[in-house]
Amino acid sequence: MSEPRTTALRLVDYHCHLDLYPDHLALIAECQRLGVATLAVTTTPKAFARNRQMASTSPAVRVALGLHPQLVAEREAEIDLFEQLLPQTRFVGEVGLDAGPRHYASFVAQERVFVRVLRSCAAAGGKIISIHSVRAAGKVLDCLEQHLPPSRGIPVLHWFTGSATEARRAAAMGCYFSVNVEMLTAPHHKRTIQALPVNRIVTETDGPFIQLNRKPIRPIDVGGCIDRLAEIVGLSSEATAKKLIANLATLESQI
Ligand code: MN
Repeated sequence: MSEPRTTALRLVDYHCHLDLYPDHLALIAECQRLGVATLAVTTTPKAFARNRQMASTSPAVRVALGLHPQLVAEREAEIDLFEQLLPQTRFVGEVGLDAGPRHYASFVAQERVFVRVLRSCAAAGGKIISIHSVRAAGKVLDCLEQHLPPSRGIPVLHWFTGSATEARRAAAMGCYFSVNVEMLTAPHHKRTIQALPVNRIVTETDGPFIQLNRKPIRPIDVGGCIDRLAEIVGLSSEATAKKLIANLATLESQI
């Protein structure tokens, strides 16, 4: 069991890069004050210690240890530091694979890193892992199947844009999904979201990489997902908001 979050939680932002905003510390305080349960992902293991220190008195904010696939080309060697730091946290991310044209050149190295991440998480047990899978949903699921037995860790597929068939495969493997406003507004992603079991869904901003009114989205803006998600899953907005908090509690009770 991870330490309970003491604030009354209203919203869930399960993938946000708090350390990429100029007012990082103010954002942590805002998440705590407003009850936004936030998973603060990092992109390099070198950023982990400072992120954790800054959020140490804000239990609404969890800090995850990451090594972003888009940085693997330059930072593959930091997997050693990742493995050293892993015993210090139950939360891992952002990790994963990116087969988009800008990052495909490093795909083999990305796979080496991701397999090491999954194997070390499997060996440790009890980790929640926020996973990037751009143009690589099938490959990410293959890696999970081979290297992370379901009892050894819980994958949360972030901004999952695989097919409805891949979504059902992931759900059958025990994955959770963090969905954001871009996914909820793109008509071609609606079928994928409809294929997800509603009790495996949490929300995310992926801030600051998503813009809202021409400004980087902030964790509190994650509330804007609820009405759209409610419509897709066929629940009221109130029931959807409650469901998200219940899903978070169930997810975190497993580690
Ligand atoms: Mn991200």
